[in-house]
Amino acid sequence: MPSVFIKTYGCQMNERDSEAVAAQLVAKGYTLAPSEAVADVILLNTCSVRDFAEKKAVGKMQNIAADVRKNRPDVVLGFLGCMAQSRGQELIDKLPDVDLVLGTQKFHHAADYLDEILAGRRDKIVDVAAEQGSEATIREHLLYGKVAKNGDGHKPPPPVTAFVSIMQGCNQRCTFCIVPDTRGEERSRGIADIVAECRQLVSRGVKEITLLGQIVTSYGKRDGVAVGVTPAVEPGVTPGGSTPGSSKRLEISHIVPGGKMPPSTAGGTPAATSPFVQLLDAVHEIEGLERIRFTAPHPKGYGDDLIEAYARLHKLVESAHLPVQSGSDRVLKLMHRGYTRERFLGIVKKLRRAKPDISITTDIIVGFPGETEDDFEQTLSLAREVEFDNAYIFKYSPRRDTPAAGMPDQVPLKIREERNHRLLETINEIGKRKYEAFIGRRTQILVEGPSKKNPARMTGRTRCNKIVVFEGSDRHRGQLLDVKITRAGSFTLYGDPAIVNL
Ligand code: SAM
Repeated sequence: MPSVFIKTYGCQMNERDSEAVAAQLVAKGYTLAPSEAVADVILLNTCSVRDFAEKKAVGKMQNIAADVRKNRPDVVLGFLGCMAQSRGQELIDKLPDVDLVLGTQKFHHAADYLDEILAGRRDKIVDVAAEQGSEATIREHLLYGKVAKNGDGHKPPPPVTAFVSIMQGCNQRCTFCIVPDTRGEERSRGIADIVAECRQLVSRGVKEITLLGQIVTSYGKRDGVAVGVTPAVEPGVTPGGSTPGSSKRLEISHIVPGGKMPPSTAGGTPAATSPFVQLLDAVHEIEGLERIRFTAPHPKGYGDDLIEAYARLHKLVESAHLPVQSGSDRVLKLMHRGYTRERFLGIVKKLRRAKPDISITTDIIVGFPGETEDDFEQTLSLAREVEFDNAYIFKYSPRRDTPAAGMPDQVPLKIREERNHRLLETINEIGKRKYEAFIGRRTQILVEGPSKKNPARMTGRTRCNKIVVFEGSDRHRGQLLDVKITRAGSFTLYGDPAIVNL
């Protein structure tokens, strides 16, 4: 069977989609190539959020295509994901060596389409149509980690953490964002279906699950009753080659129509919780699961029920990624974000009251059209006031067919770069202080495996999502370990396992 190499650009959602495609192909007998240089099929899973990400993927494919055309003409090339969705046939017109263009609702057809191309039955395939039910198709996992060793018989150990896709699409229509066009309308999977996937992962050793979606706090809001009872194909966890499971209808009984729950149950769930909090409650009940994370929420979705969930559900860790985008009300309005600076600060306050040690990270766009120096100063002051643990800073990038791209007063690149630099300095300064405050403290980590930078050391994460590197061994993998923090680097902590655990 052929080997495949998948390179992923962009967010965790894209990473998860790539993993599901890889697992699907492994189940069909493909092997995972360690690099593009030795792969029979090369797929680029793309991102469209900024122009830079698109250019990178196109440039990469141009280089690969030039090499393949000269040296390995039988290699199959494909674009997947967001840019594939937004550009479609245009990509093959531009790069005629590309054989496959697969949109965001079509990942689950990758294996069938590749079969057809490899067997010579079809030449080029472009499929970017919408497909009903596609939100429930990102379900297969690679049991033995992201890279299967080729031929040497050595399988990496199963992962300790996993991402689970709970929904697709976005209806927010922020004026800067292309995602509603590349990912389509919001569509949520059923709770029972998601819980079944989580259970299966936990039964195979996963200790921490991150629930994923474009706006997870909107989970189930549009789907109403369907949230509790989606007919489910039992998710496949692919142990390096088996076929995903059979069709099965799964239901859980306590979900009631309209996304509401009856007043307080045994678990102490408050009345009238949102579907997302219902999902958190259901996942929280899974025995053996230690930690729950989620990303990305929308600040608008932080109702009191979600704040209470942080206080109530001990597996829900002390970490929140809250994309604020700007500290200026004027810019937030132009962005169509649906909250004010004051509302955002109110959410942060409530979260810190519920979980005093919570870490708060964010996304910020600098140089949005019309952003003045004064608006930017307000973003700087918000960053200082909240004291974000970290922030992803994006220079505004005009996207095709988005309202912001046509707005007046586009900010020159030089100013966007300068603001990016200033904000980064502020974020780094705050981050340094926050990380140094951990020195001397004892904290719990979940050990994930060898450190990427130095495989002789082990790495884990605190509940508040900080990476800790320590001298450990493979026997620590998957353990919840107490460590004493001895040093803080740039967004990394270093620790010693506390005596009690040795
Ligand atoms: N779901 C999240 C939300 O809006 O709350 C964001 C998901 S988006 C894929 C990730 C981040 O990319 C956004 O939070 C935003 O900061 C950034 N982003 C999106 N569109 C952008 C654009 N046109 N230019 C620069 N950054 C952008």
